[in-house]
Formats: sequence, C-alpha cells, structure tokens
Amino acid sequence: MGRRCTKSGCRESAVKTLTYIYSDSTAVLGPLSTYAEPHAFDLCASHSDRLTVPQGWTVIAHTTEALSNEPSPEDLMAIAEAVREVAQQEISPAPQQPEVGRRGHLRVLPRHE
Ligand SMILES: [Zn+2]
Repeated sequence: MGRRCTKSGCRESAVKTLTYIYSDSTAVLGPLSTYAEPHAFDLCASHSDRLTVPQGWTVIAHTTEALSNEPSPEDLMAIAEAVREVAQQEISPAPQQPEVGRRGHLRVLPRHE
C-alpha cells in the first residue's frame, strides 16, 4: 500500500479514506479505498479522529462498534460502492436520495468544531 495521509505536513500512513459528497454536504469516513478518487482523501488515524468538516456538513463514519458485528468484505465493498454512486450522482441532472444513511453500521457523528 504505502499510501500517505493527504494532510499537508503529515507523514503518517493512511488508514481511512474520507469522501466528500458535495451535493449532500456530507463527508463519509470509511475504509481505505483501493484506488484514488477525485473527491476522496486518505487520512491517518490521528487525522481521521480529528476530522473537521465545513459548517453545516454531516460526517458519516464507520464506528468501531461495527467491527464487533463482523461486517464482511462484501459489506464494506457495498458501502464503498454506495458512496461512489452518491458521489457520481452530484454530476447527474436528477440527483436521487443517497443510500448511505440507511446503512445499519454507519452512524452520524456530532460535528466537531
Ligand atoms: Zn495525518
């Protein structure tokens, strides 16, 4: 892998991928994506913990509790796919409701200032 955190000045290895869904003012923090995407930023553990988003934005993150439910790799791929679809919808003429909010093991986090 060898992916690095995208925060300037940070040399830590990336462990999470943050994807911005501009059309829904939502930031999704998920497993490290397998390849670079236009609205995705790789973050190290400390930067993903101290994630900040613009005012009015919502953060959806994978919870550590979800790991105890043993999500399958297929589960994680499905989430990544859903996020990807939502991200693509922002350029389509008729955006639909994003699906990611209904996923059981994602939760909306209070916004950090
Ligand atoms: Zn970092």
